[in-house]
Amino acid sequence: MFEKIAAFFRSIFRSLFGGAESSSRGKNSGTDRHKPNTNNDTQKELPKAEPDFPQDAHEVDKDTAAAIVVVDESEPVALEPGDDPADNIDSENPGVAAIPADTEVIDAPVITEPETPETETQPPVEEEPPVVEKPRHKARYTWCLDNGHGKRTAGKRSPKLEDGSQFFEYEFNRDIVKKIIAQLDEIGVKHFNVVPEIDIDNFLEGRVARANNLKSDLPKIYLSIHSNAFGNSGWELPSGIETWFFHNSRAGRAIARVFQKRLINKLGWKNRNLKSYPGKRQFYVLRNTSMPAVLTENGFYTNKEECKLLMKDNIRQKIADAHVEAILEIERNGL
Ligand SMILES: [Zn+2]
Repeated sequence: MFEKIAAFFRSIFRSLFGGAESSSRGKNSGTDRHKPNTNNDTQKELPKAEPDFPQDAHEVDKDTAAAIVVVDESEPVALEPGDDPADNIDSENPGVAAIPADTEVIDAPVITEPETPETETQPPVEEEPPVVEKPRHKARYTWCLDNGHGKRTAGKRSPKLEDGSQFFEYEFNRDIVKKIIAQLDEIGVKHFNVVPEIDIDNFLEGRVARANNLKSDLPKIYLSIHSNAFGNSGWELPSGIETWFFHNSRAGRAIARVFQKRLINKLGWKNRNLKSYPGKRQFYVLRNTSMPAVLTENGFYTNKEECKLLMKDNIRQKIADAHVEAILEIERNGL
């Protein structure tokens, strides 16, 4: 077991700090799309995370904020692929089998009835209730679940509440991912917990490398889960939910609108819509993942009322449930 873990970390280390076969084709592929090409060459060298670039909504500075594009999740998404090489998910993605549109996702329940007697002379068979097998889910994607930050990440916590308690984003993000995984395991949806470790920093390059290097027969989708903040120290007014995607990614936007819709329906909080912005300062996990990627910002822990709600288990369960509903909708309908 330890050897396996050690080998895993060695492979991560190699992918971070340069393997023999490293290349950076993404940047030289004609148009600069700020995102690596989607293919199965998983040993690509990732760029270093830029410490002054924003990595979640709270870190967006004023200059970048001016360029943010906000779209309503109810607006339909064009069918043409956008600027994201990962848009060819389900169709031209090498090594990934395309799934026909009419594929049944959920098999019909199998009902095993007791055999009926062949002749009337046989003694009557004692009636037993039919055995109904649980419908088996036919997995369509592999969901890479990312919990955003680690315990060592500076900040990312609320001011203290009256009783001395405090919200920590790394803990919240992990709790939501844990709750999602519990349900996905029940249903049979394929997933990958990108960073199960707790005592770790942002680990941006490692997150992306792990997801990009993950071997999967199914197309992969990256889902990064966060809670939002405003300002630097005290309680602030902004509140609500928003979902980010790689700018001009058709698949990213299609995924984002499902998550935003499900979250708003479930929580009834302020709808801050879908967000993206063009250019190199997009969040590292959206920019460098070789698969469609979205980032959900689930409420503001710097809003006192919302912070109190975010600390409640039943609210966290609702947030996890909304994510699971979105995952199942995409598993059912495809992209
Ligand atoms: Zn965050």
